[in-house]
Amino acid sequence: MFDYYIVFLIGTIVLFFWSLIVQGNLKAKTKKGSTIQSTSGKTANEVVEEMLKSHEIYNIEICHKPGELTDCYSPKEEKIYLSDTTYGQTSLTAIAVAAHEAGHAVQDHENMILYEARQLLVPFANIGTRVAPYIVIIGAMLAAYMESGRGSGGIGWTISTIGIVMYALTFLFYLIMLPVERNASHRAYKDMKQYGWVGKDQLSYANKILRAAGDTYAVALASSLLTLIRLLAIRGRSSNSRRR
Ligand SMILES: [Zn+2]
Repeated sequence: MFDYYIVFLIGTIVLFFWSLIVQGNLKAKTKKGSTIQSTSGKTANEVVEEMLKSHEIYNIEICHKPGELTDCYSPKEEKIYLSDTTYGQTSLTAIAVAAHEAGHAVQDHENMILYEARQLLVPFANIGTRVAPYIVIIGAMLAAYMESGRGSGGIGWTISTIGIVMYALTFLFYLIMLPVERNASHRAYKDMKQYGWVGKDQLSYANKILRAAGDTYAVALASSLLTLIRLLAIRGRSSNSRRR
């Protein structure tokens, strides 16, 4: 039988070190990038404006969201929020981050299927992350309890299946998020190059910042896969005890 626990154990160890490397790399790249000023002299806000205009998007407001890592595009509010280190800044990090967020607005504007699919899955992922693991565990425990009394664990079994399906949707969200994020960064890089928002000799470093940020989504995907494996293991164990 396929041993989920061994996969989970090895996966957890690998993920731990990989995540440390990715986080460390991102921190180092963004920190250094924030000390390098773009030779174009353009601010992050101007970059967003130009990028949106070049894609004929005129309905989006640029706002300051105090704090760190608060940069985001909100399709509902039609706003692009820029953090303290991005808003009005001219550093390579600020420009790369701002262009990436504008990239999401362009994806939305062009009705990119993967972007829309990700948006549809947001509520499922929010619920799935919080409650699905508990549903699987409660269902498995209920099944075991009912079977210990020589009854059928059918209901518990069904509950844990519902939990698995809920978490599978969460996993799907992360699976779709990775290419969506890569695509937003690709758009950012392309426009940065075309419109000269950073110097030619600065392009490759700006791209490194975008890639470093993109790697965190690969870690998030792997982490969600591991959780799915762990939940399957919990459910598998209860089904084994049933067969005994
Ligand atoms: Zn993004």
